[in-house]
Amino acid sequence: MGKNVECQVCGKPAALEALIEGARVPVCEKCVRFGRIVSRPVVPVKRQAPLKKAVEAPEKLLVQGFGALVMNAREAAGFSRDELAKKIFIREHELAKIEEEKLRPDERTARKLEFALGIKLYEDIGLEIEMMRTEKKRSGKDFTMADMVELREET
Ligand SMILES: [Zn+2]
Repeated sequence: MGKNVECQVCGKPAALEALIEGARVPVCEKCVRFGRIVSRPVVPVKRQAPLKKAVEAPEKLLVQGFGALVMNAREAAGFSRDELAKKIFIREHELAKIEEEKLRPDERTARKLEFALGIKLYEDIGLEIEMMRTEKKRSGKDFTMADMVELREET
């Protein structure tokens, strides 16, 4: 059924389908009382895909595979989890979770990890995000999660 389905009782736009005298007919919200409701809604509800929602882009993004990066760098440096955790003042199970990517380190922790292991945990796309956001604003659009995904894939 298309968008312009009419209520079979009063002719207004139908939103539902009801069983009236044995037949399934489109009806509006008001006329549904003449029958028994069988479905809702007939008219497809336009749902916004979450990806198209405007987002406040974070200035910094953790690199993909940050957990493995931390773990490999730690092992290459010859630290046990316990040793590294003590070095940067976090708990060992916290570090374990970061390495398993069950936990995203906050910026302070990430910076300490970068410093302790000589790695880079953030992507350098903050500037590109800013440029794209400015550009989109100029044309009256929102910067969306989809744009961010696109930017990440380009890098
Ligand atoms: Zn009606």
